[in-house]
Amino acid sequence: MDDAATAPDPHVTPITPTAPVAAVTHGGRAKCLQRLVRLEMPLPRTVALSFDTVHGIAAGRMPDIAALVAGFHAGALLCVRPSSGDPDWGGPGAILNIGMNEARCRALAPRLGEAAARALYLRFVESYAVHVARLDPDSFEGRDATHPDALAAALAAYEDEAEEPFPQDPVVQLSEVLRSMARAWEGTTARLLRQARGAPADAGLGLVVQEMALGLGPGECGSGVLQLVDPETGLPQITGRYLSQSQGREALEHGLASLYLGRDPRGPSLEELAPQAFEDLKRHAARMRERLREEMQIEFTIEDGGVHILDGIRVPRSARAGLRIAVRLAEDGVISRAEAVMRIEPRAVSELLHRQVAPGAPRAVIGRGVAASPGAASGRIVFTAADAQASAARDEPCILVRRETTPEDIRGMHAAAAVLTERGGMTSHAAVIGRGLGLPCVVGASRIRFHFKRRQIVDTEGRVFREGDVITVDGTTGEILAGSPAMVEAALDDAFTTLMDWADAARDIDIRANADTPADAQTARNFAAQGIGLCRTEHMFFEADRLTPMREMIFADSPADRQEALALLLPMQRGDFVELFRIMEGMPVCIRLFDPPLHEFLPSDRAGLRDLAEALDMAVSDVTRRVEAMGEYNPMLGLRGVRLGITVPEIYDMQARAIFEATLEASRDGAPVVPEIMLPLVSARREVELVRARIDAVAAAVRTERGRDFTYRLGVMVETPRACLRAGDIAQHVHFLSFGTNDLTQMTYGLSRDDAGRFMQAYVAEGVFSEDPFHVLDHEGVGELVSIGAERARRAKPGITLSICGEHGGNPESIAFCRAAGMDYVSCSPFRVPVARLAAAQLAIRDAWQN
Ligand code: PEP
Ligand code: MG
Repeated sequence: MDDAATAPDPHVTPITPTAPVAAVTHGGRAKCLQRLVRLEMPLPRTVALSFDTVHGIAAGRMPDIAALVAGFHAGALLCVRPSSGDPDWGGPGAILNIGMNEARCRALAPRLGEAAARALYLRFVESYAVHVARLDPDSFEGRDATHPDALAAALAAYEDEAEEPFPQDPVVQLSEVLRSMARAWEGTTARLLRQARGAPADAGLGLVVQEMALGLGPGECGSGVLQLVDPETGLPQITGRYLSQSQGREALEHGLASLYLGRDPRGPSLEELAPQAFEDLKRHAARMRERLREEMQIEFTIEDGGVHILDGIRVPRSARAGLRIAVRLAEDGVISRAEAVMRIEPRAVSELLHRQVAPGAPRAVIGRGVAASPGAASGRIVFTAADAQASAARDEPCILVRRETTPEDIRGMHAAAAVLTERGGMTSHAAVIGRGLGLPCVVGASRIRFHFKRRQIVDTEGRVFREGDVITVDGTTGEILAGSPAMVEAALDDAFTTLMDWADAARDIDIRANADTPADAQTARNFAAQGIGLCRTEHMFFEADRLTPMREMIFADSPADRQEALALLLPMQRGDFVELFRIMEGMPVCIRLFDPPLHEFLPSDRAGLRDLAEALDMAVSDVTRRVEAMGEYNPMLGLRGVRLGITVPEIYDMQARAIFEATLEASRDGAPVVPEIMLPLVSARREVELVRARIDAVAAAVRTERGRDFTYRLGVMVETPRACLRAGDIAQHVHFLSFGTNDLTQMTYGLSRDDAGRFMQAYVAEGVFSEDPFHVLDHEGVGELVSIGAERARRAKPGITLSICGEHGGNPESIAFCRAAGMDYVSCSPFRVPVARLAAAQLAIRDAWQN
């Protein structure tokens, strides 16, 4: 024999325990099948074709198919399945029964029976005609397989449409199947589809050719799938189906006729029908779980009572099941705890924290916007905060629809099941508050038309949804749906807690929460935040009993009048802080002094102005004039933040006093409190010096009055580009710096955080921005400013505490950036804390594995 005849064909690799088969060259399925061979599973003979080989086939370079076929048992039927880098990328469907022809049909008739043999042949002709020869499916599908003329009619239809007889040669059949699958993978539509699912542009396809175990014939024959867990919950439970005299995944498609696997009160089971086969399957599945270190779904065939394993794939699973599966594998010692932590996608945790639209539920999409706060909720449309409150009073879930929300809508937001706004982006008011409350929210839904006067919204197809109609806001996907699809509930179970504990053990950067209210702080505690990184105090002034003294303070003509109004606000603020300190039990609480422009607290409509005039005993015209005089063309860049603290210093004085008095009160009967006071929108060192001097004076006064000592830490929010550049100067006067990347992004790009939603989708679609920079920190631009700031601050003051408190603090990619920049903690919305804990743990584990 000459060498060429004996040398193995490099294109075609029989799967043996030692064959050179790898996931990167042959795809995941081929590699998995090799593992099953190594485990000595009863697998029919299988051959793998590499990515290169399949690419060659698409280009017309066919390997020696006659030799390939000759490697199987004479007369065997074959099947071909795809083997790509990731099953989620899709790919051509499997083709079964290759090799079926007149001769095979006659040969199988004595064993299977005439009718079954003809039905098998018919099934192959139909699938070959539609999926390989790509003939019109209408000519081949829906034929009655039991009709005696069905096969002849299908063969005639084939000959008629293809203008040649149905191929009888198994070598021709297999060649055509391989060619068709290879070409389907290389088609533009298939490529775009898989790229949308995360596949690289040059992702390859491998193919596996396997001898068929028929699942048909005398004795107990059939096929099915089995797994050891419930795919929805991840709890141990044998699930799957079996169907006698069937092939492939038919058992799953014929729900009623199929058997349960284990004994089941709902109907007959494989365990009763073929107990030995059932035991064998369970044993194989348990061994796969242990040796492949994963919950596997097995596709099997039974032939005359004997089990054949055809394939094993990772059990498809819900987010909740994924988490429980990982935890159970680690608890059983199959994988390490670190590996369990690494197996969970941080975003999947976010899914667990909120109700979601059920994965298979029909979605009647009426519009899209920015997915600003995850979770889904259905309810009746309302257009005002007052209507939302009225709806809540009737116990009727509602969706608050607004052009954009303002601080005045907060009570309505509390009352609503979800919020939808026409305008806004990832860091606009509705988005920030929504995430804080764990309230599903879609903002910037600019393709829907909002008619606030007519109280209706209209989708692009002209469908009208009126006040009172039920819609669903899916804040996870950014979609608005008509009606109320089925939902799955949040799932914070013991597996979640266990995994998060393991994550915390690995984590090396602290996670705090942005929390403004006792409810937020409690959520933060429940999610194991290590303190509050940002308490936006202005959110405390919108309660009805505070708004009036707040407005009196704003309207005060003299310092004495102002002091009077502030004296009313002081005990309220003090009470807020005492409550926060008590909930956080000695953990750090970082309180940001008043930030927004004052006129945000004033009414803008006629009725509001009249109410205010009454409350202040002034003429409406005077009130209107004063409100107008306070208006600014660009309030975000106007008299706000520390600028207000310097020009109207009594406000910060009052807040500092409230903080210090609360510190003493909370420390009396609880853990000692060291409050952190943070100044917003700083851009110059002198601002810090001026405010610090006043706060120190207030601290000294409180110490003297109360005869007790306390300490506090002063910090600056670095959220203007100048503050980043001058961080060295600023650092010398403070204990900590916290990067406010919402404003910093806005100012670095010159891009309004409230208006960005209008064109963000177009900008991302065009590739101008790879991501919404309000969502994922822009490493190149904003990130460079942050790095410069961190580096200059540390050089000027080694040991200074550095952190981030913009919304990016809850985004996994941004956390990676902050950790690499050496920050001490990130602070994010309370509901994002678990996501941040997991993402941060994964970074630390990855580093440990690499070193
Ligand atoms: C910021 O600007 O990043 C920030 C956290 O503050 P706010 O969102 O309140 O402006
Ligand atoms: Mg800010």
